[in-house]
Amino acid sequence: MKKLVEIKDVLEFYRMLGFERLPIELKDFNKTDKIKRPVSNEITSIKNCRSKEKALIELRKELGDCKRCKLSQKRLNIVFGEGNPEAKLMFIGEAPGREEDEQGRPFVGEAGMVLTRLIEKMGFKRTDVYIANIVKCRPPMNRDPEPDEIELCKGFLEKQIEIINPKVIMSLGRISAMTLSGINKLKITAIRGKFFYFKDIPVMPTFHPAYLMRNPKDKWLTWNDAQKVLDKLAEK
Ligand code: SF4
Repeated sequence: MKKLVEIKDVLEFYRMLGFERLPIELKDFNKTDKIKRPVSNEITSIKNCRSKEKALIELRKELGDCKRCKLSQKRLNIVFGEGNPEAKLMFIGEAPGREEDEQGRPFVGEAGMVLTRLIEKMGFKRTDVYIANIVKCRPPMNRDPEPDEIELCKGFLEKQIEIINPKVIMSLGRISAMTLSGINKLKITAIRGKFFYFKDIPVMPTFHPAYLMRNPKDKWLTWNDAQKVLDKLAEK
């Protein structure tokens, strides 16, 4: 019975998003723009900001001591995201882990070191790019963020993307790719290495650094993906 309720919730979730049938196709993703989103609709003050930096500061103020979803109950710190507001490249993971929760900064643990090495191998510093997550509070026991949590939080990430307007996004792991593509239940092994688009911005899905720590033999695949990103950044 519990499962049936969960399935009903998922279908209801898709119906709210404007989908009339499953599976979802990429071209249907923009329908999500039509839904009333409790988070994004609250964010109005950034429109008057003259710089991206100020707009991000305003957005952080809007987020406040957010209690919009249940992840607020056990978090220590909100992990808003950090980096260059003018970044051409954004990295988007799924959720803060323990060390990120403690420090209030994204990707500062061991997985963060893997990401930092990738960024540097690509010829950048962390301060050149912008790093954020799909949800801004740590899920208990590092579980995957749940659909209701993602739905309540992602408006803030969407605004961050809108403000920064990067040339390319690298999504890290399955949850990030699922959320940005709007495609549920995808396998990261099937879609990594192929660009899709989030509101006209090319997104390169690749493995999460935590996966690469467990499967170092796949690091070369992520490096292949990173090279495609570098090619895209070099395009006029
Ligand atoms: S995860 Fe996002 S929506 Fe949920 S409490 Fe944290 S900031 Fe708010």
